[in-house]
Amino acid sequence: MNEVEAQRQKEIQQAEELLFAGPQALGFAKGLFHGHFVADWVMPYPRIPAAQQTELDKSLADLREFLDQHLDPVAIDRQADIPRDVINGLGQLGVLGMTAPVEYGGPGFTQMANCKVLEEIGSRCASTSVFVNAHHSIGIRALLLFGTHEQKQKWLPKLVTGEQLGAFALTEKEAGSDAANVQMQARPSEDGSYFILNGEKRFITNAAIAQVLTVMARTPVPGSSKTAITAFLVTPDMPGFTILEARMPKMGIRGTATGRFALQDVKVPKRNILGLMGKGLKVALTVLDFGRTTFGACCTGAAKTCLRLATEHANTRKQFNKTLGEFHLVKKKIARMAADAYAMEAMTTITASLIDRGLEDYMIETAMLKVFTTERLWEAINDAFQIYGGSAYFVDLPLERMLRDARINQIGEGSNEVLTSFIALVGMRGPGMEFKEIYDTMLKPSRAGIGRAWTAGMRRLGAAVRIPDVPVRSTELRSFANQLGRLIWRFNLAVNRALIAYREPILDMQLVQERIAGAAMDLFASTCVLSRWDAEVQFARRNGESSSEKNRVADLFLRQSFRHIRGLLRDLNDNDDNAVLATADSVTRRH
Ligand SMILES: Cc1cc2nc3c(=O)[nH]c(=O)nc-3n(C[C@H](O)[C@H](O)[C@H](O)COP(=O)(O)OP(=O)(O)OC[C@H]3O[C@@H](n4cnc5c(N)ncnc54)[C@H](O)[C@@H]3O)c2cc1C
Repeated sequence: MNEVEAQRQKEIQQAEELLFAGPQALGFAKGLFHGHFVADWVMPYPRIPAAQQTELDKSLADLREFLDQHLDPVAIDRQADIPRDVINGLGQLGVLGMTAPVEYGGPGFTQMANCKVLEEIGSRCASTSVFVNAHHSIGIRALLLFGTHEQKQKWLPKLVTGEQLGAFALTEKEAGSDAANVQMQARPSEDGSYFILNGEKRFITNAAIAQVLTVMARTPVPGSSKTAITAFLVTPDMPGFTILEARMPKMGIRGTATGRFALQDVKVPKRNILGLMGKGLKVALTVLDFGRTTFGACCTGAAKTCLRLATEHANTRKQFNKTLGEFHLVKKKIARMAADAYAMEAMTTITASLIDRGLEDYMIETAMLKVFTTERLWEAINDAFQIYGGSAYFVDLPLERMLRDARINQIGEGSNEVLTSFIALVGMRGPGMEFKEIYDTMLKPSRAGIGRAWTAGMRRLGAAVRIPDVPVRSTELRSFANQLGRLIWRFNLAVNRALIAYREPILDMQLVQERIAGAAMDLFASTCVLSRWDAEVQFARRNGESSSEKNRVADLFLRQSFRHIRGLLRDLNDNDDNAVLATADSVTRRH
């Protein structure tokens, strides 16, 4: 087996282990790839239960008052620090442990409620929202999800109040996008009571201000020469823990402390292992699922700020004797920003609800949310910037800071390229396995194989002939629902065609994957928008309001999203991929 093939086998084995642990309920995104509309997960649009909504409203009111009085995003950016009194205040408001259960000192909020809190912070200061995410969404997440009762009792109370801060340390020099390539070693002591950790981590948010770090390190697999990743709770008072750089100077989210640290023969007790030995990659990826959900909330908040800033300026600034908002090229930007912000909020809410409702596997949805919201926020900031013209360039307005702050979003917690490929490949795996079943049986027929292949074939055939029903309750949205169903059907045909045409090489064909993932993302976004709009129409109807006024924002989003999906599916058969790849090859060879 050559090196490339060996690497591929290793990746497939890791992915199998991580992603396909056993039979699971069909989620919404996986359903799309099979040509189904799994309505139960997305319709009706989720609502926070009334009792918790009251609690959330109170928390949001308190938070807004606190942020109005104490949060100064300009000072945080200039001084490259979030003042301790802001952190303490957030702790007192419960923000640093929003989803922690009451028994460990948290308010026990759902992800949906937590996302509303993060949206509020994200609308004001990206440094602060990233800090909260690093601490709560990922820093203490492994403890919340995988910790034993004893571990939670010991560590959580101080972490949820912010008396202690958390960090999540996965990234190393050789383990960036390739998260499975962690090199930090954890060797068991002779009596097995502790592990000895050696290695370095870099780009870690809160590294130098955290008292508890979730650290990923490589442990031996008993009875074999292999190693696997395990999650450890590490504290900076352990001998051998050294901060190499507390605050790496950086372009955006400057208030966050992004650091590097080394562990040299650090003895970590066995009782500090989170989850199972050797299952740290699963821990890490699950933690990042939560991070990506609140990422979506923060981006939604920031996009709403862009929309507010852009409309304020477009309404007041005059050129050529007209306000800027009268020019069509400015209108186009504002309309798109509004449509995207509406979709981002809907997508965040539905994705968070999947977690709250206990869907086992929501990896594709969280990846789609992360890619979609970070890309759309980048466009929104760029458009708002453009509407402000030269004035946006100066530091007295927030847009230059927002632009700098937002750039990390497309890179952190899984770069958008890696996640795009992931969405396509994990999504296509289901139908791909069914085709494999059919193909293998054709080559080597066996009684059991024929049965399985028959079932798979019928399922494929069923999806190919049946346009899925999108069950909206409002008759005025029926036409959009029908179009969405038809697009899902066309998407499924395109996925099948790609799998049949390219077979295994599709694993490396990222330009094809990008279109498939892009179409899946827009199908998900459109579904969330339609679900939200449907709920609004129903709500208005229940309250005796006339629904004659169309939700123009949702209407525009659906029109543009459907057009985008059609374009992506068309481009699967009509593109310049060969020329793109040949050009890149010729250029990279030259340099
Ligand atoms: C401000 C900041 C805060 C951070 N906080 C944390 C933290 O708290 N904890 C933590 O563990 N990490 C953290 N990170 C690390 C972050 O998650 C990584 O930067 C990210 O995973 C990308 O890794 P990398 O920077 O090594 O880029 P690389 O892996 O070198 O990738 C560079 C680029 O190559 C491309 N690329 C890579 N692989 C592929 C592929 N398979 N297909 C197509 N394109 C590809 C992508 O465009 C990618 O952006 C932070 C980073 C920053 C900048």
